[in-house]
Amino acid sequence: MDKKMIDIIVPVFNEADNISLFRTAIEKTFAPLKYNYTIYFIDDGSIDESLKIIKDFSMSYNNIKYITFSRNFGKDAAIQAGLKYSKGDACIMIDADLQHPVELIPEMIHYWENGYDTIYAFRDKANEHVSFAHQMSASFFYKTLILLSDIEIENGATDYRLTDRKVIDVLNNFSENDPYFRGLTKWIGFKQKAIPYTPNKRLHGTTKYSKRALLKLALRGITSFSVKPLNIATYLGFTFSILSLLYIPYILYSLWFGHPISGWASVIATVVFFGGLQLMILGIIGLYLGKLFMNSKHRPHFIISEENAS
Ligand code: UDP
Ligand code: MG
Repeated sequence: MDKKMIDIIVPVFNEADNISLFRTAIEKTFAPLKYNYTIYFIDDGSIDESLKIIKDFSMSYNNIKYITFSRNFGKDAAIQAGLKYSKGDACIMIDADLQHPVELIPEMIHYWENGYDTIYAFRDKANEHVSFAHQMSASFFYKTLILLSDIEIENGATDYRLTDRKVIDVLNNFSENDPYFRGLTKWIGFKQKAIPYTPNKRLHGTTKYSKRALLKLALRGITSFSVKPLNIATYLGFTFSILSLLYIPYILYSLWFGHPISGWASVIATVVFFGGLQLMILGIIGLYLGKLFMNSKHRPHFIISEENAS
């Protein structure tokens, strides 16, 4: 019987120093396993040597494929492209920078063999490689995400996962403009298993996510999964209307006893507070409107300039 095929989907953005190490690590991992594998490197508009290295590898090894984007479209687009080309019985989505330990792959495959459809890794406990501020903001982000989205995403959920063919087929049928895979795979359901891990230190290069990009990712995560933030306006509106009623007795009391109602400071504070609140809520509505707008254009999610994966 033919061995089953596992596709490795690797988004690459300026990872020249990591690609070769990554390939060797995968080769070593699969050597004792009874599976064939194909690596799909999706070059997300790298401006370093990454593409050249990947192409050279694809000449020497016929289980290495490449897909190149016309520019940088972001990691999720890269994963999406990889999924479109994947033909295997399962696929593993993993970062190129070796922060996702390949040692986890046999364990993921073990669970897959035992009937799990999505096996995903999440960062375990406080790990020493990221700054305290980063950890706090990540933990805050996941808490907010869970609160606002009705799906339980573990604090530390990553894009490191193995999915069965049936999950890939479902994902490929999504026409969402801005897929947020961490949430989507969870949302899809089937039999899921979470396994904890401690991320390795990045060997070469730096993280591609600035603080601003992380904030953008957070907002995307929330807005692609729920409309709860839109309800906030309603709740706040009710609350403040009711609170403002409490002010009436004070006004009547002052009128009755002839007290002047004091308050330049309080008026300004109130105006500024509500001004801010209204802008914030307008902003939230704007985020959703922006999403609708972008989706309504039906633009392709990525543009491929070259590939040898079909
Ligand atoms: N990546 C990508 N496109 C981007 C940013 C990142 O394909 O616009 C890839 C990157 O090459 C790596 C993975 O996504 O393989 C994770 O990126 P990174 O290590 O910078 O993120 P972090 O581990 O810091 O969250
Ligand atoms: Mg990384």
